[in-house]
Amino acid sequence: MLKRTHMCGDLRETDAGSDVVLCGWVNSYREQGKGLFFIDLRDRTGMTQVVFDQEDVPGDVMDASRSLRRESVIAVGGQVRARDGGANPKLPTGAIEILGSSLEVLNTTDNPPILPDEHEAGKIDEEIRLRHRYIDLRRPRMQSILGLRSKVAQHTRNFFAEHGFLEVETPLLIRSTPEGARDFIVPSRMYPGQWYALPQSPQLFKQILMVSGCDRYMQICKCLRDEDPRADRQAEFTQIDLEMSFVDQDDVMDIMSQFATGLFKTFKDVDLGEIPRLSYAEAMDRYGSDRPDLRFDLEMTDVSEIAAKTDFKVFTSVMEGEHGAVKAMRIPGGAEQLTRKMLDGYGDYAKTWRTGGLPYVKYTGEGDNGGFETGVAKFLAPVSDQLVAALHLEAGDVVLFTADERITAETAMGHVRLKVAEDLDLIDPEAWAPLWVVDFPMFAWDVDSKRYVSLHHPFSAPREDQLPLLETDPANCISACYDLVINGSEVGGGSIRIHDPSVQAKVFELIGLSDEEASEKFGFLLEALKYGAPPHGGIAFGLDRLVMLLFGTDNIRDVIAFPKTQNGADLMCEAPGPIDESQLNDLGLQIEVEAPSG
Ligand code: ASP
Repeated sequence: MLKRTHMCGDLRETDAGSDVVLCGWVNSYREQGKGLFFIDLRDRTGMTQVVFDQEDVPGDVMDASRSLRRESVIAVGGQVRARDGGANPKLPTGAIEILGSSLEVLNTTDNPPILPDEHEAGKIDEEIRLRHRYIDLRRPRMQSILGLRSKVAQHTRNFFAEHGFLEVETPLLIRSTPEGARDFIVPSRMYPGQWYALPQSPQLFKQILMVSGCDRYMQICKCLRDEDPRADRQAEFTQIDLEMSFVDQDDVMDIMSQFATGLFKTFKDVDLGEIPRLSYAEAMDRYGSDRPDLRFDLEMTDVSEIAAKTDFKVFTSVMEGEHGAVKAMRIPGGAEQLTRKMLDGYGDYAKTWRTGGLPYVKYTGEGDNGGFETGVAKFLAPVSDQLVAALHLEAGDVVLFTADERITAETAMGHVRLKVAEDLDLIDPEAWAPLWVVDFPMFAWDVDSKRYVSLHHPFSAPREDQLPLLETDPANCISACYDLVINGSEVGGGSIRIHDPSVQAKVFELIGLSDEEASEKFGFLLEALKYGAPPHGGIAFGLDRLVMLLFGTDNIRDVIAFPKTQNGADLMCEAPGPIDESQLNDLGLQIEVEAPSG
């Protein structure tokens, strides 16, 4: 076999005259009338033009080149020369070509079901691309994502090694972990009737590593959560996971801010600057989201008190309830830009977020109804001065309202906010808006089970000053949790953990976990915490999401070499799939459900 000397993206004009051997895939070929055979040869690094001239090469080489197909695998020997027909400025190697003297067909190919053409990719059904992922990944775009991901992982390891972190692997076959999702489970052959769970995160192990004196741990690890299909999630995803001893919330956030800033500087040449902090309550109040997109200004205002003074039933009835709120969002200049149809559309959209609708008005600053027009104008006339002052209204604005239980009113408006921003093109594609969301409540009230549930996981500690509230007012107890959000996307989150067994017991009690259940689920952690657990805290960043942001794609499957479909299937290896009867027998299992046909 010809021995490769260069990659297909390597050669430049300064290499003219060198004898080289390139290996790769035939991206395209064409024969020109005068006995010239052209091949665009491609590998991971790029493409080089090769030309065989029938005047110069033996007949069998010409025959071999004529037998090629797109995606045949070949090695070509020849000499670099300046391109005969002038440079191709679109290719980094465009100034040169190889005048071929030898050709080895290393492998033929069946007629490829898809081709790794960039402009074709968008037209091919994603399922077909996933089924033949090995060809799809040959596309330059996919190769550059794989390359970026690899560099990000390398950068991450270097960064944390420089900051004294040990990379430690934690097991895949474990007991259930408490991240709140469903576990993937694995039957045990050696212990019939017993099951392993695949980790939703290495949470318990990394805490135990702190008890074991590891001091600073990091790992780039797979996490598995058996969640219902969602376009932007994968059941199997990768986290940059870490944990630190003897730290407080600021220490963890500082190191992660440094990490994130370094990453964006290195890979995007973007200066994220000082990352601001926003409390959960303020994020919800102003943006209706715990991961607000701050690339644009639209904000909402609490107008509950003003709304309660109107005769508008929708407002007043909500305000009679204990947790009711009326939120208003001013859209500057909206009267011009938003059509009736769009406004009604926002109403329908708000309903999908479980609120009744989206009353709106236009503000003209004149006329009978205190300057309001259309929609619910007549109800707002008596409070117009107060509304104008509270919302800083100017003629030409539109105001949208949601009235509901506070969390519902805020969340629905938060989603409408994003839609309006998209419709009115308010998002600067070049902008980067990172922020830390802090001061989350420890608990959320679960209406169905009528009990508190941990907002993060049950090992997150209350903020130090909030400890007494665990006893007196758990609903208002603030945790030492923190999330990093960039452009409205949650990049990661973590917390200072509970290291005091009595606090841990109190939290379990509040979330309705009996001692037996707690020790059944995570007894090993609770036991470890008894033997000299240092104060500790940590965080995990989603690697997939980071690479999405750094590369600039909305499709999570772009950044994963072998992703699953939205419905959790691997179309290439056809997983999930059946197993042999003998495997079932080994495991002592019987299948009762019928496998779907087809
Ligand atoms: N285990 C958490 C998660 O996977 C992250 C953390 O608290 O460190 O979301």
